[in-house]
Amino acid sequence: MSQRVLYIEDNEQNLYLVRFLLERHGYQVVDALDGQAGIELAAALVPDLVLLDIQLPRMDGYAVARKLRANAALEQTPIVAVTSYAMSGDREKALAAGCDGYIDKPINPDTFLQQVEFHLSQPRKKNVR
Ligand code: MN
Repeated sequence: MSQRVLYIEDNEQNLYLVRFLLERHGYQVVDALDGQAGIELAAALVPDLVLLDIQLPRMDGYAVARKLRANAALEQTPIVAVTSYAMSGDREKALAAGCDGYIDKPINPDTFLQQVEFHLSQPRKKNVR
């Protein structure tokens, strides 16, 4: 069974690129265009991985990460921030909000799949935060 990735992102070009890169390698990709839709889809689908934009309308990615982490059903699901914020403080904020890592924008098609596979291969431990 193919692994399912939920991508919460409001930018159509990024949605298109990520879908292209992942579907080509057999992943299922589900899009959510804002945080609320992402939270609802994550609860319904319990995806294998969540990719999370930080700059989202209405509710930012940090708030989305905190909400996802409040759902015990998602305890084993890694959340990876996908962010153009280059400053380390923003990465730390993403980690503090419950993300397990981050991937930089612009997305690099040559390394993106490896980054996704790395995060999929990292089992989440209970009660680490
Ligand atoms: Mn965005």
